[in-house]
Amino acid sequence: MIPAVLPTYARAPLTFVKGEGSWLVDDQDRRYLDMGAGIAVNALGHAHPKLVEVLQHQATQLWHTSNLYQIPNQQALADKLVEATFADTMFFTNSGTESMECAVKMARKYFSNKGQPERYKIIAFKDSFHGRSLGMIAAAGAEKLTKGFGPMMPGFVHVDVNDDAALKDAIDAETAAILIEPIQGEGGIVPVSDEKMKALRDLCDEHGLLLIFDEIQCGMGRTGKLFAHEWSGVTPDIMAVAKGIGGGFPLGACLATEDAASGMVAGTHGSTYGGNPMACAVGGAVMDIVATPEFLGEVSEKSGLMRQKLEGLVASHPDIFEEVRGLGLMIGVKCKVTNLDVVRAGYDVGVLTVPGGDNVIRLLPPLNISEAEIGQAIDLLDQAATQLKAAQ
Ligand SMILES: *Cc1c(COP(=O)(O)O)cnc(C)c1O
Repeated sequence: MIPAVLPTYARAPLTFVKGEGSWLVDDQDRRYLDMGAGIAVNALGHAHPKLVEVLQHQATQLWHTSNLYQIPNQQALADKLVEATFADTMFFTNSGTESMECAVKMARKYFSNKGQPERYKIIAFKDSFHGRSLGMIAAAGAEKLTKGFGPMMPGFVHVDVNDDAALKDAIDAETAAILIEPIQGEGGIVPVSDEKMKALRDLCDEHGLLLIFDEIQCGMGRTGKLFAHEWSGVTPDIMAVAKGIGGGFPLGACLATEDAASGMVAGTHGSTYGGNPMACAVGGAVMDIVATPEFLGEVSEKSGLMRQKLEGLVASHPDIFEEVRGLGLMIGVKCKVTNLDVVRAGYDVGVLTVPGGDNVIRLLPPLNISEAEIGQAIDLLDQAATQLKAAQ
């Protein structure tokens, strides 16, 4: 008999009942160090006192009104993001997929608004991930996402991220934009080099294309900058954000320059919940904490410590692990055994990691994890690897 919840997830047999900082507690009262943070969502860990305070206060004031009216919390969060980024304007959503949908609609509208409706194609990259709507599975293009859901929405062209010649060949008179994750997340923590980021910007400028970044996973302080593209000095025209921005409350945004957003006038796009008073109260509190040089500096310092310890871990378990990669607290450890076996061994010893493409386990801890907890995480992963080796 089909379960009451549609069985689209291969869930682990773990049931968490409480969260505290970097820790989760299950229904057997076992504690787990949460190095996955709900897939880079719990940027400030679980039950952060400031977020709890802001959410509880907002709950007594106003939950929802509608974008029919002014929403001061939304305005305040937008002002903070405009102040801190390349963007002049933004549209609020409830998820990453919706932020990406807005980005693609905006790019198409930009050209139609400029009298070039034939320019609708977006060049995207193999092994990317942009969400699960019909539009966004077409954008990523991988068969594991699209199979059985056809026909696919036209307008996406896919090239290998390392094939510069194919990228140039893919640009034609119908191209509107290039879409990339500055660090592929689901694809297995694959950073795009600064040179490549600059080359993409140059290519877009040369051909009059829009550059769209999907920073849903790598943004909001994850890499030690507020957004990952800042490391390269390159800015996009449009950027999708979600996950960490709400610290666990569903919230996303599509940020853009004034020019890129020029077609999106009243009536062209909308959302019932997007940017509602509750979500934006929490999002504002997350921004106040994360978007400070002190906080971001600490992310970088902790990242250095974690990298160094992980290199040691890989060196002491050469049969289990292959290499460490990533940026900031967005780290992939490539495995020699099946990554899911490592994730499951982690469950046994009390550490949570997330599987990713290319046989990696992803470490995406709360950005405010302590140095002691990083040490504990490495010890637990060491135990997990020792168990796996013994079972081989
Ligand atoms: C998670 C993710 C998405 C989809 O976000 P949802 O909130 O699940 O809709 C899109 N792009 C990237 C890079 C992601 O990591």
